[in-house]
Amino acid sequence: MSTEERIERNFFARDKEEQQAFLEQTWCDHCQEADLGMSNPLEYEQEGTIFVEGTCNRCGQPVYTELTDDDI
Ligand SMILES: [Zn+2]
Repeated sequence: MSTEERIERNFFARDKEEQQAFLEQTWCDHCQEADLGMSNPLEYEQEGTIFVEGTCNRCGQPVYTELTDDDI
């Protein structure tokens, strides 16, 4: 198995409130600003870490949220 491999997860299986929190609590590297929000969320696991990837609501660049164990 390649370390690059992504294992897709179902973001929409999460609670509505949890989904909402992920969509709102973002960090955009491009805007250098937090909590701009994301759209088109996609959840996956890569190298043992879970990410939620989406599109920044302000600039349209990809944003990533890395989940710690506490969030899972
Ligand atoms: Zn942005």
